[in-house]
Amino acid sequence: MSDVNIVERGRTLVVNPLITCQPLGAMFATLGIHRGLPLVHGSQGCNTFVRYAFNRHFREPAEIAVTSLHEDAAVFGGRSNLINGIKNLSKRFRPDLIGVVTTCSSEIIGDDVEGFMKVAHKELAEEIGEEKANKTKLVHISTPSFVEHHFRGYGNAVKAFVNTLTEEPTESNDKLNIIPGMVNPGDIREIKHILGLMGTEAIVLSDTSDPFDSPLRPSTTESMPFYPKGGTRVEEIADSSNSLGTISLPFYGDDAANSLEKKYDVPAKIGPMPIGVQNTDEFVRNVTKLTGLEASEELLDERGLLIDSMADLCSRYLFGRKVAIYGDPALVMGMARFVCEIGMIPSFVCTGVENPEFVEEMKKVGKESEGPVEVMPGSDLRALEVRLEEEPVDLVIGNSEGRLITRDLDIPLVRVGFPVYDRAGYHRVPIVGYNGSVNLIDRITNIVMEKYYDEQHWKLQQ
Ligand code: SF4
Repeated sequence: MSDVNIVERGRTLVVNPLITCQPLGAMFATLGIHRGLPLVHGSQGCNTFVRYAFNRHFREPAEIAVTSLHEDAAVFGGRSNLINGIKNLSKRFRPDLIGVVTTCSSEIIGDDVEGFMKVAHKELAEEIGEEKANKTKLVHISTPSFVEHHFRGYGNAVKAFVNTLTEEPTESNDKLNIIPGMVNPGDIREIKHILGLMGTEAIVLSDTSDPFDSPLRPSTTESMPFYPKGGTRVEEIADSSNSLGTISLPFYGDDAANSLEKKYDVPAKIGPMPIGVQNTDEFVRNVTKLTGLEASEELLDERGLLIDSMADLCSRYLFGRKVAIYGDPALVMGMARFVCEIGMIPSFVCTGVENPEFVEEMKKVGKESEGPVEVMPGSDLRALEVRLEEEPVDLVIGNSEGRLITRDLDIPLVRVGFPVYDRAGYHRVPIVGYNGSVNLIDRITNIVMEKYYDEQHWKLQQ
Protein backbone atom coordinates (compact mmCIF):
# COMPACT_ATOMS: atom_id res chain seq x y z
CA MET A 1 0.00 0.00 0.00
CA SER A 2 1.29 3.45 -0.92
CA ASP A 3 0.75 6.84 0.69
CA VAL A 4 -2.37 8.74 -0.32
CA ASN A 5 -2.26 12.48 0.36
CA ILE A 6 -5.39 14.57 0.02
CA VAL A 7 -4.37 18.08 -0.98
CA GLU A 8 -6.67 21.12 -0.85
CA ARG A 9 -6.40 23.88 -3.46
CA GLY A 10 -5.38 26.26 -0.69
CA ARG A 11 -6.78 29.45 -2.25
CA THR A 12 -10.21 30.79 -3.11
CA LEU A 13 -9.36 31.94 -6.62
CA VAL A 14 -9.67 29.32 -9.37
CA VAL A 15 -7.05 29.50 -12.13
CA ASN A 16 -7.51 27.38 -15.25
CA PRO A 17 -10.66 25.64 -14.04
CA LEU A 18 -11.42 22.01 -14.70
CA ILE A 19 -15.17 22.46 -14.52
CA THR A 20 -17.71 24.80 -16.00
CA CYS A 21 -21.29 25.66 -15.07
CA GLN A 22 -24.21 23.22 -14.87
CA PRO A 23 -26.07 24.17 -18.09
CA LEU A 24 -23.34 22.69 -20.33
CA GLY A 25 -24.00 19.21 -18.95
CA ALA A 26 -27.76 19.66 -19.36
CA MET A 27 -27.37 20.77 -22.99
CA PHE A 28 -25.11 17.78 -23.64
CA ALA A 29 -27.69 15.35 -22.24
CA THR A 30 -30.58 16.98 -24.12
CA LEU A 31 -28.77 16.68 -27.44
CA GLY A 32 -28.75 12.92 -26.84
CA ILE A 33 -32.55 12.80 -27.14
CA HIS A 34 -33.99 12.00 -30.56
CA ARG A 35 -35.32 15.27 -32.03
CA GLY A 36 -34.39 16.96 -28.76
CA LEU A 37 -33.67 20.68 -28.49
CA PRO A 38 -32.14 22.43 -25.50
CA LEU A 39 -33.70 25.84 -24.84
CA VAL A 40 -31.41 27.80 -22.55
CA HIS A 41 -33.35 30.28 -20.42
CA GLY A 42 -30.62 32.84 -20.01
CA SER A 43 -28.37 35.22 -21.88
CA GLN A 44 -26.86 34.47 -25.27
CA GLY A 45 -23.37 33.74 -23.99
CA CYS A 46 -24.71 30.88 -21.89
CA ASN A 47 -25.25 28.80 -25.01
CA THR A 48 -22.78 30.33 -27.49
CA PHE A 49 -19.66 29.03 -25.80
CA VAL A 50 -21.24 25.65 -25.18
CA ARG A 51 -22.08 25.23 -28.86
CA TYR A 52 -18.54 26.26 -29.69
CA ALA A 53 -17.16 23.68 -27.22
CA PHE A 54 -19.29 20.89 -28.76
CA ASN A 55 -18.38 21.95 -32.30
CA ARG A 56 -14.67 21.92 -31.54
CA HIS A 57 -14.72 18.55 -29.81
CA PHE A 58 -17.18 16.57 -31.95
CA ARG A 59 -16.80 18.51 -35.23
CA GLU A 60 -20.58 18.45 -35.53
CA PRO A 61 -23.21 21.18 -35.37
CA ALA A 62 -25.08 21.51 -32.07
CA GLU A 63 -28.52 23.12 -32.32
CA ILE A 64 -29.18 24.94 -29.05
CA ALA A 65 -31.75 27.70 -28.64
CA VAL A 66 -31.66 30.53 -26.11
CA THR A 67 -34.33 32.86 -24.68
CA SER A 68 -31.82 35.71 -24.85
CA LEU A 69 -32.45 37.47 -21.56
CA HIS A 70 -31.30 41.09 -21.40
CA GLU A 71 -31.32 43.78 -18.70
CA ASP A 72 -35.10 44.22 -18.84
CA ALA A 73 -35.67 40.51 -18.20
CA ALA A 74 -33.33 40.68 -15.22
CA VAL A 75 -35.67 43.29 -13.73
CA PHE A 76 -39.10 42.17 -14.94
CA GLY A 77 -38.49 38.43 -15.43
CA GLY A 78 -38.18 36.28 -18.54
CA ARG A 79 -41.82 35.18 -18.85
CA SER A 80 -42.48 36.35 -22.39
CA ASN A 81 -39.02 35.26 -23.61
CA LEU A 82 -39.61 31.71 -22.44
CA ILE A 83 -43.21 31.39 -23.59
CA ASN A 84 -42.44 32.82 -27.03
CA GLY A 85 -39.28 30.72 -27.27
CA ILE A 86 -41.13 27.47 -26.58
CA LYS A 87 -43.90 28.35 -29.04
CA ASN A 88 -41.50 29.39 -31.80
CA LEU A 89 -39.37 26.27 -31.45
CA SER A 90 -42.39 23.97 -31.37
CA LYS A 91 -43.94 25.50 -34.45
CA ARG A 92 -40.79 25.83 -36.53
CA PHE A 93 -38.82 22.70 -35.68
CA ARG A 94 -41.42 20.24 -34.33
CA PRO A 95 -39.07 18.78 -31.72
CA ASP A 96 -40.04 15.67 -29.76
CA LEU A 97 -38.60 17.28 -26.64
CA ILE A 98 -37.55 20.71 -25.48
CA GLY A 99 -35.25 20.71 -22.46
CA VAL A 100 -35.69 24.08 -20.73
CA VAL A 101 -32.29 24.69 -19.14
CA THR A 102 -32.12 27.42 -16.52
CA THR A 103 -29.04 29.56 -15.88
CA CYS A 104 -27.64 31.97 -13.27
CA SER A 105 -29.94 34.78 -14.30
CA SER A 106 -33.22 32.86 -14.55
CA GLU A 107 -32.50 30.98 -11.30
CA ILE A 108 -31.59 34.16 -9.42
CA ILE A 109 -34.52 36.27 -10.57
CA GLY A 110 -36.74 33.36 -9.54
CA ASP A 111 -38.70 32.87 -12.77
CA ASP A 112 -41.64 30.48 -12.38
CA VAL A 113 -40.31 28.28 -15.16
CA GLU A 114 -42.80 25.44 -14.68
CA GLY A 115 -45.68 27.92 -14.68
CA PHE A 116 -44.44 29.60 -17.87
CA MET A 117 -44.08 26.19 -19.55
CA LYS A 118 -47.72 25.39 -18.73
CA VAL A 119 -48.84 28.70 -20.24
CA ALA A 120 -46.72 28.08 -23.34
CA HIS A 121 -48.26 24.64 -23.81
CA LYS A 122 -51.80 25.99 -23.34
CA GLU A 123 -51.29 28.81 -25.85
CA LEU A 124 -49.63 26.41 -28.27
CA ALA A 125 -52.56 24.00 -28.03
CA GLU A 126 -54.95 26.87 -28.85
CA GLU A 127 -52.84 27.88 -31.85
CA ILE A 128 -51.91 24.54 -33.45
CA GLY A 129 -54.27 22.09 -31.74
CA GLU A 130 -53.92 19.88 -28.67
CA GLU A 131 -52.65 16.84 -30.56
CA LYS A 132 -49.77 18.67 -32.26
CA ALA A 133 -48.86 20.56 -29.08
CA ASN A 134 -48.70 17.30 -27.12
CA LYS A 135 -46.13 15.91 -29.54
CA THR A 136 -43.47 18.18 -28.05
CA LYS A 137 -42.63 17.17 -24.49
CA LEU A 138 -41.44 20.00 -22.29
CA VAL A 139 -38.91 19.15 -19.60
CA HIS A 140 -37.70 21.66 -17.05
CA ILE A 141 -34.04 21.08 -16.17
CA SER A 142 -33.03 23.13 -13.18
CA THR A 143 -29.32 23.93 -13.42
CA PRO A 144 -28.40 26.71 -11.01
CA SER A 145 -24.97 27.59 -12.32
CA PHE A 146 -23.62 29.09 -9.12
CA VAL A 147 -23.43 25.67 -7.44
CA GLU A 148 -21.55 22.52 -8.42
CA HIS A 149 -20.44 21.86 -12.02
CA HIS A 150 -21.38 20.69 -15.51
CA PHE A 151 -21.28 17.03 -14.49
CA ARG A 152 -24.06 17.69 -11.99
CA GLY A 153 -25.93 19.56 -14.76
CA TYR A 154 -25.75 16.38 -16.85
CA GLY A 155 -27.06 14.33 -13.90
CA ASN A 156 -29.84 16.83 -13.27
CA ALA A 157 -30.93 16.62 -16.92
CA VAL A 158 -31.11 12.82 -16.92
CA LYS A 159 -33.03 12.93 -13.64
CA ALA A 160 -35.45 15.48 -15.13
CA PHE A 161 -36.05 13.28 -18.23
CA VAL A 162 -36.72 10.25 -16.08
CA ASN A 163 -38.94 12.05 -13.57
CA THR A 164 -40.96 13.82 -16.27
CA LEU A 165 -41.34 11.19 -18.95
CA THR A 166 -41.19 7.73 -17.38
CA GLU A 167 -44.54 5.96 -17.23
CA GLU A 168 -45.90 3.42 -14.77
CA PRO A 169 -44.35 0.00 -15.43
CA THR A 170 -46.34 -2.61 -17.35
CA GLU A 171 -44.23 -5.59 -18.38
CA SER A 172 -40.48 -6.17 -18.52
CA ASN A 173 -38.74 -5.00 -21.68
CA ASP A 174 -35.69 -7.20 -20.88
CA LYS A 175 -33.44 -4.16 -21.36
CA LEU A 176 -30.97 -2.31 -19.17
CA ASN A 177 -30.95 1.43 -18.60
CA ILE A 178 -27.45 2.83 -19.05
CA ILE A 179 -26.45 6.33 -17.95
CA PRO A 180 -23.13 6.70 -19.75
CA GLY A 181 -21.99 10.10 -18.47
CA MET A 182 -20.24 12.77 -20.49
CA VAL A 183 -18.37 10.30 -22.66
CA ASN A 184 -17.73 10.07 -26.38
CA PRO A 185 -19.83 8.46 -29.13
CA GLY A 186 -17.21 5.68 -29.42
CA ASP A 187 -17.63 4.88 -25.72
CA ILE A 188 -21.41 4.61 -25.89
CA ARG A 189 -21.12 2.36 -28.95
CA GLU A 190 -18.64 0.16 -27.07
CA ILE A 191 -21.03 -0.20 -24.12
CA LYS A 192 -23.82 -1.21 -26.51
CA HIS A 193 -21.41 -3.65 -28.14
CA ILE A 194 -20.66 -5.33 -24.78
CA LEU A 195 -24.36 -5.56 -23.95
CA GLY A 196 -25.01 -7.00 -27.42
CA LEU A 197 -22.37 -9.69 -26.81
CA MET A 198 -24.10 -10.53 -23.53
CA GLY A 199 -27.48 -10.78 -25.25
CA THR A 200 -29.26 -7.68 -24.03
CA GLU A 201 -30.04 -4.16 -25.19
CA ALA A 202 -29.70 -0.76 -23.61
CA ILE A 203 -31.93 2.21 -23.14
CA VAL A 204 -29.20 4.82 -23.04
CA LEU A 205 -30.08 7.87 -20.95
CA SER A 206 -29.15 9.82 -23.01
CA ASP A 207 -27.60 8.50 -26.22
CA THR A 208 -25.32 11.18 -27.67
CA SER A 209 -23.45 8.70 -29.90
CA ASP A 210 -25.24 9.27 -33.22
CA PRO A 211 -26.20 12.93 -32.69
CA PHE A 212 -22.54 13.81 -32.08
CA ASP A 213 -21.16 11.57 -34.81
CA SER A 214 -23.67 11.38 -37.61
CA PRO A 215 -23.26 10.62 -41.31
CA LEU A 216 -23.28 13.36 -43.91
CA ARG A 217 -25.28 12.09 -46.83
CA PRO A 218 -25.72 14.90 -49.30
CA SER A 219 -28.56 14.30 -51.65
CA THR A 220 -29.63 16.25 -54.69
CA THR A 221 -33.28 15.57 -53.98
CA GLU A 222 -33.50 16.15 -50.24
CA SER A 223 -32.30 18.94 -48.02
CA MET A 224 -30.17 18.09 -44.98
CA PRO A 225 -32.40 16.94 -42.14
CA PHE A 226 -32.50 19.41 -39.26
CA TYR A 227 -32.09 16.69 -36.64
CA PRO A 228 -29.28 14.14 -36.69
CA LYS A 229 -30.27 10.50 -36.69
CA GLY A 230 -30.25 8.54 -33.48
CA GLY A 231 -30.59 9.67 -29.90
CA THR A 232 -32.86 8.23 -27.23
CA ARG A 233 -36.53 8.37 -28.14
CA VAL A 234 -39.04 9.85 -25.73
CA GLU A 235 -40.91 6.50 -25.78
CA GLU A 236 -37.73 4.71 -24.68
CA ILE A 237 -37.43 6.99 -21.66
CA ALA A 238 -41.10 6.32 -20.87
CA ASP A 239 -40.29 2.60 -21.08
CA SER A 240 -37.25 2.81 -18.76
CA SER A 241 -39.47 1.86 -15.79
CA ASN A 242 -39.88 -1.59 -17.41
CA SER A 243 -36.13 -2.26 -17.53
CA LEU A 244 -34.29 -4.93 -15.56
CA GLY A 245 -32.06 -2.37 -13.91
CA THR A 246 -30.11 0.86 -14.32
CA ILE A 247 -26.34 1.19 -14.43
CA SER A 248 -24.95 4.68 -14.13
CA LEU A 249 -21.30 4.61 -15.16
CA PRO A 250 -20.46 7.95 -13.48
CA PHE A 251 -21.45 8.67 -9.89
CA TYR A 252 -23.04 11.91 -11.06
CA GLY A 253 -25.84 9.92 -12.76
CA ASP A 254 -26.89 8.54 -9.37
CA ASP A 255 -29.97 10.72 -8.85
CA ALA A 256 -31.71 9.45 -12.00
CA ALA A 257 -30.80 5.82 -11.29
CA ASN A 258 -31.93 6.07 -7.66
CA SER A 259 -35.14 7.80 -8.68
CA LEU A 260 -36.03 4.89 -11.00
CA GLU A 261 -35.28 2.48 -8.18
CA LYS A 262 -37.33 4.37 -5.62
CA LYS A 263 -40.35 5.03 -7.82
CA TYR A 264 -40.51 1.90 -9.95
CA ASP A 265 -38.33 -0.73 -8.23
CA VAL A 266 -35.79 -0.71 -11.07
CA PRO A 267 -32.57 -1.75 -9.27
CA ALA A 268 -29.69 0.71 -9.55
CA LYS A 269 -25.95 0.21 -9.74
CA ILE A 270 -23.67 3.24 -9.62
CA GLY A 271 -20.26 3.05 -11.28
CA PRO A 272 -17.56 2.35 -11.99
CA MET A 273 -16.50 3.86 -15.30
CA PRO A 274 -15.47 0.64 -17.10
CA ILE A 275 -11.87 1.44 -17.96
CA GLY A 276 -9.32 -1.37 -17.59
CA VAL A 277 -9.74 -4.96 -16.48
CA GLN A 278 -11.13 -4.62 -12.95
CA ASN A 279 -13.65 -1.91 -13.70
CA THR A 280 -14.89 -3.55 -16.91
CA ASP A 281 -15.16 -6.86 -15.06
CA GLU A 282 -17.29 -5.10 -12.47
CA PHE A 283 -19.48 -3.60 -15.17
CA VAL A 284 -19.96 -7.07 -16.70
CA ARG A 285 -20.74 -8.52 -13.26
CA ASN A 286 -23.33 -5.79 -12.71
CA VAL A 287 -24.95 -6.64 -16.05
CA THR A 288 -25.00 -10.31 -15.00
CA LYS A 289 -26.55 -9.48 -11.62
CA LEU A 290 -29.30 -7.40 -13.20
CA THR A 291 -30.07 -9.57 -16.22
CA GLY A 292 -28.90 -13.07 -15.31
CA LEU A 293 -26.88 -13.12 -18.55
CA GLU A 294 -23.28 -14.34 -18.56
CA ALA A 295 -20.27 -13.00 -20.47
CA SER A 296 -20.14 -14.62 -23.90
CA GLU A 297 -17.09 -16.33 -25.41
CA GLU A 298 -16.53 -13.33 -27.72
CA LEU A 299 -16.48 -11.00 -24.74
CA LEU A 300 -14.03 -13.24 -22.89
CA ASP A 301 -11.84 -13.17 -26.01
CA GLU A 302 -11.91 -9.37 -25.98
CA ARG A 303 -10.87 -9.47 -22.34
CA GLY A 304 -8.07 -11.87 -23.30
CA LEU A 305 -6.84 -9.45 -25.97
CA LEU A 306 -6.61 -6.73 -23.34
CA ILE A 307 -4.61 -9.00 -21.02
CA ASP A 308 -2.39 -9.91 -23.97
CA SER A 309 -1.64 -6.30 -24.86
CA MET A 310 -0.88 -5.59 -21.19
CA ALA A 311 1.56 -8.49 -21.17
CA ASP A 312 3.15 -7.29 -24.42
CA LEU A 313 3.68 -3.67 -23.47
CA CYS A 314 3.47 -2.90 -19.76
CA SER A 315 6.70 -4.22 -18.31
CA ARG A 316 8.71 -3.17 -21.37
CA TYR A 317 7.59 0.45 -21.73
CA LEU A 318 5.22 1.52 -18.98
CA PHE A 319 6.16 -0.05 -15.66
CA GLY A 320 7.08 2.41 -12.90
CA ARG A 321 6.35 5.51 -14.95
CA LYS A 322 4.71 8.35 -13.04
CA VAL A 323 1.49 9.83 -14.36
CA ALA A 324 -0.69 12.86 -13.60
CA ILE A 325 -4.39 12.52 -14.48
CA TYR A 326 -7.00 15.30 -14.51
CA GLY A 327 -10.55 16.03 -15.71
CA ASP A 328 -13.97 14.40 -15.32
CA PRO A 329 -13.88 12.79 -11.84
CA ALA A 330 -15.53 9.57 -13.04
CA LEU A 331 -13.02 9.28 -15.86
CA VAL A 332 -10.10 10.09 -13.56
CA MET A 333 -11.29 7.40 -11.11
CA GLY A 334 -11.37 4.77 -13.87
CA MET A 335 -8.14 5.92 -15.41
CA ALA A 336 -6.24 5.94 -12.09
CA ARG A 337 -7.11 2.30 -11.42
CA PHE A 338 -6.23 1.41 -15.01
CA VAL A 339 -2.77 3.00 -14.89
CA CYS A 340 -2.08 0.96 -11.71
CA GLU A 341 -3.10 -2.17 -13.62
CA ILE A 342 -0.56 -1.40 -16.33
CA GLY A 343 2.19 -0.81 -13.79
CA MET A 344 2.26 2.98 -13.83
CA ILE A 345 1.93 5.21 -10.77
CA PRO A 346 -0.92 7.74 -10.62
CA SER A 347 1.25 10.29 -8.79
CA PHE A 348 -1.31 13.11 -9.14
CA VAL A 349 -5.06 12.74 -9.62
CA CYS A 350 -6.79 16.07 -10.02
CA THR A 351 -10.40 17.11 -10.58
CA GLY A 352 -12.40 20.30 -10.25
CA VAL A 353 -15.12 18.48 -8.34
CA GLU A 354 -15.20 18.15 -4.56
CA ASN A 355 -16.74 14.80 -4.04
CA PRO A 356 -16.45 12.15 -1.31
CA GLU A 357 -16.83 9.27 -3.81
CA PHE A 358 -13.80 10.53 -5.68
CA VAL A 359 -11.64 10.72 -2.58
CA GLU A 360 -12.76 7.31 -1.28
CA GLU A 361 -12.05 5.67 -4.63
CA MET A 362 -8.60 7.25 -4.77
CA LYS A 363 -7.83 5.86 -1.33
CA LYS A 364 -8.62 2.39 -2.68
CA VAL A 365 -6.50 3.04 -5.77
CA GLY A 366 -3.64 4.07 -3.46
CA LYS A 367 -3.60 0.52 -2.12
CA GLU A 368 -3.04 -0.77 -5.65
CA SER A 369 -0.39 1.77 -6.59
CA GLU A 370 3.36 1.11 -6.61
CA GLY A 371 4.03 4.67 -5.46
CA PRO A 372 2.43 7.58 -3.54
CA VAL A 373 -0.76 9.15 -4.87
CA GLU A 374 -1.57 12.83 -4.38
CA VAL A 375 -5.32 13.40 -4.59
CA MET A 376 -6.44 16.90 -5.60
CA PRO A 377 -10.25 17.23 -5.34
CA GLY A 378 -11.92 20.59 -5.98
CA SER A 379 -8.74 21.75 -7.65
CA ASP A 380 -7.66 23.39 -10.88
CA LEU A 381 -5.02 23.11 -13.59
CA ARG A 382 -2.85 25.82 -12.06
CA ALA A 383 -2.52 23.82 -8.84
CA LEU A 384 -1.57 20.76 -10.86
CA GLU A 385 0.94 22.78 -12.89
CA VAL A 386 2.66 24.01 -9.71
CA ARG A 387 2.96 20.47 -8.38
CA LEU A 388 4.30 19.22 -11.71
CA GLU A 389 6.96 21.95 -11.69
CA GLU A 390 8.03 20.71 -8.25
CA GLU A 391 7.74 16.99 -8.97
CA PRO A 392 7.72 16.21 -12.69
CA VAL A 393 6.04 13.06 -14.00
CA ASP A 394 6.66 11.01 -17.15
CA LEU A 395 3.21 11.47 -18.62
CA VAL A 396 0.06 13.54 -18.21
CA ILE A 397 -3.40 12.20 -19.09
CA GLY A 398 -6.26 14.64 -19.60
CA ASN A 399 -8.17 16.86 -22.01
CA SER A 400 -6.79 19.51 -24.37
CA GLU A 401 -6.91 22.23 -21.70
CA GLY A 402 -3.56 20.98 -20.38
CA ARG A 403 -1.75 21.27 -23.71
CA LEU A 404 0.13 24.50 -22.95
CA ILE A 405 1.14 23.44 -19.46
CA THR A 406 2.51 20.12 -20.66
CA ARG A 407 4.27 21.80 -23.57
CA ASP A 408 5.99 24.25 -21.22
CA LEU A 409 6.97 21.47 -18.83
CA ASP A 410 8.03 19.22 -21.70
CA ILE A 411 5.87 16.34 -20.50
CA PRO A 412 3.88 14.38 -23.11
CA LEU A 413 0.08 14.66 -22.91
CA VAL A 414 -2.21 11.70 -23.63
CA ARG A 415 -5.47 13.28 -24.65
CA VAL A 416 -8.66 11.79 -23.23
CA GLY A 417 -12.00 13.17 -22.05
CA PHE A 418 -13.76 16.40 -22.98
CA PRO A 419 -12.82 18.66 -24.59
CA VAL A 420 -10.23 17.39 -27.03
CA TYR A 421 -10.05 19.95 -29.81
CA ASP A 422 -6.43 19.78 -30.93
CA ARG A 423 -6.54 16.21 -32.21
CA ALA A 424 -8.91 14.63 -34.72
CA GLY A 425 -11.18 11.63 -34.38
CA TYR A 426 -10.67 10.84 -30.71
CA HIS A 427 -14.42 11.07 -30.06
CA ARG A 428 -14.94 8.03 -32.28
CA VAL A 429 -12.36 5.86 -30.51
CA PRO A 430 -13.61 4.19 -27.31
CA ILE A 431 -11.59 4.13 -24.12
CA VAL A 432 -14.14 2.09 -22.13
CA GLY A 433 -14.63 -1.66 -22.08
CA TYR A 434 -11.96 -4.22 -22.93
CA ASN A 435 -11.59 -2.92 -26.49
CA GLY A 436 -11.37 0.68 -25.33
CA SER A 437 -8.69 -0.23 -22.81
CA VAL A 438 -6.61 -1.82 -25.58
CA ASN A 439 -6.92 1.46 -27.49
CA LEU A 440 -5.78 3.33 -24.39
CA ILE A 441 -2.74 1.12 -23.86
CA ASP A 442 -1.76 1.63 -27.51
CA ARG A 443 -2.27 5.40 -27.25
CA ILE A 444 -0.26 5.65 -24.02
CA THR A 445 2.52 3.34 -25.20
CA ASN A 446 2.94 5.11 -28.53
CA ILE A 447 3.31 8.45 -26.78
CA VAL A 448 5.82 6.94 -24.32
CA MET A 449 7.77 5.43 -27.24
CA GLU A 450 7.76 8.70 -29.13
CA LYS A 451 9.01 10.67 -26.13
CA TYR A 452 11.37 8.28 -24.39
CA TYR A 453 12.52 5.79 -27.03
CA ASP A 454 12.57 7.39 -30.50
CA GLU A 455 15.45 9.74 -29.77
CA GLN A 456 17.40 7.08 -27.91
CA HIS A 457 17.05 4.66 -30.82
CA TRP A 458 18.06 7.35 -33.25
CA LYS A 459 21.17 8.11 -31.19
CA LEU A 460 22.08 4.43 -31.06
CA GLN A 461 21.94 4.32 -34.84
CA GLN A 462 24.56 7.11 -35.21
S1 SF4 B 1 -22.04 30.89 -15.30
FE1 SF4 B 1 -24.14 31.63 -15.54
S2 SF4 B 1 -23.95 33.41 -16.94
FE2 SF4 B 1 -22.09 32.20 -17.12
S3 SF4 B 1 -22.48 30.80 -18.84
FE3 SF4 B 1 -23.01 29.71 -16.94
S4 SF4 B 1 -25.20 30.07 -16.72
FE4 SF4 B 1 -24.47 31.59 -18.16
